[in-house]
Amino acid sequence: MYQRIVVKLGTSVLTGGTHTLDRPRMIELVRQCAQLHAAGRDVIVTSSGAVGVGRARLNFPNLPASIVTKQLFAAVGQPRLMRMWEQFFDIYGIQVGQILLTRADVENRQRYLNARDAFSVLLEHRIIPIVNENDAVATEEIKVGDNDNLSALVATLTNADLLLMLTDQPGLFTADPRTNPGAELIPEVHHIDATLRANAGGAGTGLGVGGMATKLQAANIARHAGADVVICAGSEPDVIARVVGGEALGTRFPALETPLESRKRWILAGPRPSGALIVDAGAIDALSHWGRSLLPAGVVAVKGQFDRGDTVTIQDGRGRELARGTVAYASNDLRRIMGRHSNEIQAQLGYTYGPAVVHRNNMTILTE
Ligand code: GLU
Repeated sequence: MYQRIVVKLGTSVLTGGTHTLDRPRMIELVRQCAQLHAAGRDVIVTSSGAVGVGRARLNFPNLPASIVTKQLFAAVGQPRLMRMWEQFFDIYGIQVGQILLTRADVENRQRYLNARDAFSVLLEHRIIPIVNENDAVATEEIKVGDNDNLSALVATLTNADLLLMLTDQPGLFTADPRTNPGAELIPEVHHIDATLRANAGGAGTGLGVGGMATKLQAANIARHAGADVVICAGSEPDVIARVVGGEALGTRFPALETPLESRKRWILAGPRPSGALIVDAGAIDALSHWGRSLLPAGVVAVKGQFDRGDTVTIQDGRGRELARGTVAYASNDLRRIMGRHSNEIQAQLGYTYGPAVVHRNNMTILTE
């Protein structure tokens, strides 16, 4: 049974599709979280809504759709949002604590561990963390960007065993149910493949940032981190208890059997990749099937500018992501050694950091 649960509440759930927060709905979700809490489980809530609440508070001013406008709305909306959560959890005598994150807070391992400690100490004291992106200071470069991926990051940081993403859809469908009446709900997903990604399409309702595509990305990260992931409708009666109780609701992505060790989880959920390495068929086989390190001989192209120690994505020729890892060589150096045998590195560069471009200990495979 699940012991640590991240409940992700999207804007569409909190507003019930309107432009203001639906308090009875929030109170009902709080009641469900309180029930889990009382049963001794750890609950972590990821709540969207800061930007929307701020916009409503300021009476929907006619401002340009820019980062600074969002910063303004979030700065006004976040404390208001938090005050509501605090009031509602107070009904049950439960204390809450606010954690605001951006990607910059987890981009190096030390900061990632600090963020992890913050969650641990709250949970240790039976305080429910309420998490959002720190939109008031976040810029495009340092943002996670959507609360689906943010909640996967939170599930990874906290070692959660369930990530429950509540949304305005009953789950993931074989086609877009809003336009295709033949679309069927997919009850369980074991492989996230190209068809599934294509079905998930683009953004969602227009109220929140994410859609099914970002939910899939998030589900993939969280299941690699060892959490089951369930996407389902927040309006379903008693949804949290039913999912936690094992009822088949919505779409479930079972956790992978061998969750990644801590360092590899950070690689997956923490830093945004600063570049890409395109690899050949031999390297794909060596990485995906044999768990080997990536050698310069298997690299056919290097995209972007990065330094030694940065995180990069490793892709096949069609842009499919196979793995992520931290590189041993900067992009400029890598361009001089790609396609070559590892014993030529010294002669090419005048130094060597070892035969691997990305060592297998610093790499997370994403294909299973
Ligand atoms: N962090 C945003 C907010 O509080 C929401 C992002 C999202 O909906 O994914 O408004």
